[in-house]
Amino acid sequence: MRVILTHDVDSIKKPLKHVLKVRKRFSIRDVIKHVLGLKNLYNNIEDVMALEDTYGFRSTFFIPVDLFPLLEIEDILKELVRGGWEVGLHYVVESVQNRALMKIKKEFLQSIVGKVLGVRMHQLLVNIELLKIAKDLGLAYDSSYRAYEIGKFSPIVMECGILEIPIGIMDTDLFGRLMMDERKAIKYIVSKVEEAREEGIITLLFHQESIHMKGGRIYRDILEYIHRHEYKTLTCRDVVVNVNE
Ligand SMILES: [Zn+2]
Repeated sequence: MRVILTHDVDSIKKPLKHVLKVRKRFSIRDVIKHVLGLKNLYNNIEDVMALEDTYGFRSTFFIPVDLFPLLEIEDILKELVRGGWEVGLHYVVESVQNRALMKIKKEFLQSIVGKVLGVRMHQLLVNIELLKIAKDLGLAYDSSYRAYEIGKFSPIVMECGILEIPIGIMDTDLFGRLMMDERKAIKYIVSKVEEAREEGIITLLFHQESIHMKGGRIYRDILEYIHRHEYKTLTCRDVVVNVNE
């Protein structure tokens, strides 16, 4: 069984007022650390790296260029790339001129992290037209469709020629949409991984900003589960390389 690990980076900071308002989502200890300025609870890229690294796992981070100033995390992005993680484009879909804007955003991201192979649309607002644009811009893959939308867990070459890496499980579906508690969510994830075993592959999406929150913090349990079962983990880039070989 292979598990593709991915993260979207929708934000890297929130105003203190917001953190205090939603403080119940965190442990008291983390909130105190945040208030004292010892920890930024919304920028956990390095924490995710450290956590994955304890198992020798690598993952793909989808990074937007327009949800926060990209240059604020320039050093972290370079650290990611150096460490063998993958950076893909987290594309915020625009109401007009997506061809021009995807090109501009991709080039800007590439100026910092080097060649970008794939894209995931923010809020998964994907459509066939966007896939065509991504393909025309030289991107090898998209990972914005849910597996149940495509009808399978495994990567598939779409009609326009781009590789689609469907999302098997997304954290916000479980905690936001279905309002599951953590125990239920872990059970659900295990059951979906079991379901995908027939195809031998599944993609997980956990947002980095919720890794210390109730809900998102089960990511460490999931990594432990993957490790215990000796499942192989992959980045999206690994999948592209496998398909091309
Ligand atoms: Zn997003």
